Amino acid sequence: MKRIFATFLLLLTLTACAAKPASYTADFFAMDTFMSVTVCGESEDTAREAAFACEQTVNALEPALSRTREDGDLYRLNHADGTVCTVSDETYAAIEAAVQYAELTGGAFDPTMATLTDLWSINTENAHVPAQAEIEAALAKVGYENIVLLGDNQVQLKNGAQIDLGGIGKGFATDAAADVLAAQDEGAATGALVQLGGNIGAFGANPAREGGGWTIGVGDPDDTADYVATVEVQDKSVVTSGDYERYFEQDGKRYHHIFDPATGYPADTGLRSVTVVDESSTRADALTTALFVMGLEDGMAFCAQNGIAAIFVTSEKQVYTTDAVASACIYTFLGADKGYNDAQ
Ligand code: ADP
Ligand code: MG
Repeated sequence: MKRIFATFLLLLTLTACAAKPASYTADFFAMDTFMSVTVCGESEDTAREAAFACEQTVNALEPALSRTREDGDLYRLNHADGTVCTVSDETYAAIEAAVQYAELTGGAFDPTMATLTDLWSINTENAHVPAQAEIEAALAKVGYENIVLLGDNQVQLKNGAQIDLGGIGKGFATDAAADVLAAQDEGAATGALVQLGGNIGAFGANPAREGGGWTIGVGDPDDTADYVATVEVQDKSVVTSGDYERYFEQDGKRYHHIFDPATGYPADTGLRSVTVVDESSTRADALTTALFVMGLEDGMAFCAQNGIAAIFVTSEKQVYTTDAVASACIYTFLGADKGYNDAQ
């Protein structure tokens, strides 16, 4: 919790709007994380209205995307015992996107990790290393091909599968906030910074940069109040997945919350974090999770093939960027005095 808050402060320091034009920041807690929406515009009133509209949209998405909200569609679908369920437009669209990225990443991103996530219970008091038999039983229910999308918002889950949108939900919500900002009256939201946990959306003009872009820090996995690089972006999302915010330690080993669907264990590929810069926050969110599972070599190859702008930080303190980073943002490596190496 403290670490998440530290990251949050860091980002604000790097990116806060200048005093002019007017700006307003809405801070709130949703989807199990700190969130903040800063809107810059012609007047404080319109900026506040736009920021609150984003907050409301994100809050309204929570039951649609959370599998623990008993009043939500995803909960109902997961507890429908394999029968066909009609869900809301939002839940359907998020599941559709999740399946698309599962296919694109060959299942490295898999939205049916719910049984495994439950078993490991990372970030709860029950967090523990499960028995191998338990992992195998949970894995038997994992597989995105068990999601049947029937159209007209109808979904069916086969073979005991349950959907977990934790790997894509904040990206989906960031894109929804972007739509809200784009729909504001002209001048009401000339620039905005949407920070939903590790998902950042930086939109429009940054008044502190006279209309230029927004600078986002790529956190140091060993000290998230500090950073190893910055990226300057405009109308893009910057998303990071890492092993350092949600984890527990047992017998001196760290177990984090990004699971390899092939093993049922936390992905152990020598990576500390992956950051993706992309126009779509949903895609960036799915891909950071997937790239973390793929590891450096396969992940870099995947990014080269698909033109993805990604930054990999390894446990050997090497920082790698893909070719697409140069065109997606202005990248500045800053990790040298913290022992990191710009491995280009
Ligand atoms: P964060 O939630 O910290 O932003 P991620 O976007 O990487 O991080 O999402 C991790 C969450 O996604 C986990 O808490 C779990 O709910 C789910 N998850 C874990 N492993 C996978 C995976 N291989 N594919 C899809 N979702 C996953
Ligand atoms: Mg993700």
